[in-house]
This record gives sequence, structure tokens and C-alpha cells, in this order.
Amino acid sequence: MRARELGRFSGAGERPRCPRCQSVVVWRCGISRAGKQQYRCKGCGRVFVLSPYLDELAKELAERMIKEKIAVPVIVRVMDGHISRRWIYKRKGELHAE
Ligand SMILES: [Zn+2]
Repeated sequence: MRARELGRFSGAGERPRCPRCQSVVVWRCGISRAGKQQYRCKGCGRVFVLSPYLDELAKELAERMIKEKIAVPVIVRVMDGHISRRWIYKRKGELHAE
């Protein structure tokens, strides 16, 4: 599921596609609480954000910062809503356990 979504969204300049009905007829629909561009599907009305690929990049960056022992609040600020504080703390715990 995860890999398939990545494949679907990783093409540069690819149109946003509704995750429910696969329609590409979507409208920009404000910004989510996490600061991401939201889209609304014209066909089924589903609201979604277009960012599994960005999330992967953000997580990779966040992980690097965790390994460099940068303070979590700083990472949260730098990631600017792309990664949740909770995820960073969880990942930090996992990395320390390794
Ligand atoms: Zn749809």
C-alpha cells in the first residue's frame, strides 16, 4: 500500500489524483492544519493532501537531524508541519534503541 502510493505520487509534476476514486479532476481546497495543500475531488468530494512522497523525504531529513542530536523542538520547527512531534519522538526512541 505504502509503496504503491509512493509510486503513484512520486512522478514530478504529476497531477494530484483522488485516493478514493482515482479521478484527476480535483480542486485546490485550502491548507490543512499541518500546513499542506489540500485538494477536493470533484467526483466524490473526498478531501486529501498530496504528499506521501514529500513525507518520505521529510522523514529522511528528520532522521538525519535526530542522528545529529538536534533538539526535537528545533526539528519540529524546521520541518514546518511536515512531520509530527510525536513521530519524531517515536523515531528518536527507535534510533536510540538501535
Ligand atoms: Zn474521488
